[in-house]
Amino acid sequence: MVGAGPRAAVGTGARAAVGAGTRAADHGASQAVAGFVADVGGTWVRLRGGGVGAAVERLRSPSRLNHPGRSVARLREDMVELLCRAAPPGARAAISFGAAIDHLTGTVYGSAPLWGSETTPYDMGAALRAHRPDVTWQLVNDVTAALVDFAATHARPGVRRVGYLTVSSGIALRVADMERMRIPVDERGLQGEIGHLPAMTTGPELQGAGLLCECGAPDHLASISSGPGIARVARQLGLDTGPAVSEWLPEALAADDPLARRLLELCVEPVAHMLRTLWCLDPHLDLLGLGGGVVEGLGAHYADELRRQLGLATSYADRGRDPAWLADRLVFCAPGTVDPLRGAERVDRWLPGIVP
Ligand SMILES: [Zn+2]
Repeated sequence: MVGAGPRAAVGTGARAAVGAGTRAADHGASQAVAGFVADVGGTWVRLRGGGVGAAVERLRSPSRLNHPGRSVARLREDMVELLCRAAPPGARAAISFGAAIDHLTGTVYGSAPLWGSETTPYDMGAALRAHRPDVTWQLVNDVTAALVDFAATHARPGVRRVGYLTVSSGIALRVADMERMRIPVDERGLQGEIGHLPAMTTGPELQGAGLLCECGAPDHLASISSGPGIARVARQLGLDTGPAVSEWLPEALAADDPLARRLLELCVEPVAHMLRTLWCLDPHLDLLGLGGGVVEGLGAHYADELRRQLGLATSYADRGRDPAWLADRLVFCAPGTVDPLRGAERVDRWLPGIVP
């Protein structure tokens, strides 16, 4: 409906499955509607049939991470087989996928944990439909699923737009329009792959450093602010962190180590700048959840530093945000606060909202 065409959902019967008029009524509701849900990551696939409250089954993911010697073609076949074997007859299935994904077709772009360096897009939606045409398949990326879960659990009435930002091994942001119950995407079915945008930094230590992102390009947001990015900046600062920087940094920050503080400051700066830009362009973004391994692992250290930077005036147009303003809009998520599997259960009510 609403002109989305047959691409709006991945699966036969999807249009019939999406009841007109359900969206406003579902705003903020928590009742599950999908009959079968899965959260696909590089290490685990979590499955649940039978709705909220049913047991979650956890299987090792048929991924490059778990099977380094297996071909990508075989890994993809195994994934399709796993999901098709698990889906009950005639189910409405919603799958959260840990990869950039075309939300209009179900085509999955490269995912290093799943398929290594393979970058040829794969139409997972078509493969699932071909194997199990009785099932209505809906595929979303895990950030979208997390956003749906966050919006359902945290958006109070009157909130106009809600975002969810994940800072982890990668960085991505999704924004939902709560007034229209839509998560808009572009013609490629994407939104918010911000990790691969140029990073804004003012630190002299990083000028001309050309730190390489996982994608191979220099000076991306993920080059500096992702988990691997923080390790790169630590090396750039000449820090000998001993163990992994993710273990060293929280302890060093707790001990008020000045170099650890500087490292955090440099790595938070591009994120703070991105949020200023976001609010400048969309003043109706009323609520933003922040999660992912970096945010959750550094906890209050990360939250305090981001709020401190956003409190600073950078120009007459950006006079800094006061603590009350920020407290009203930013939610720093603890581990487990947001669950893509729960989001997948709720994604059905957003259809056909995930359209351009
Ligand atoms: Zn990149």
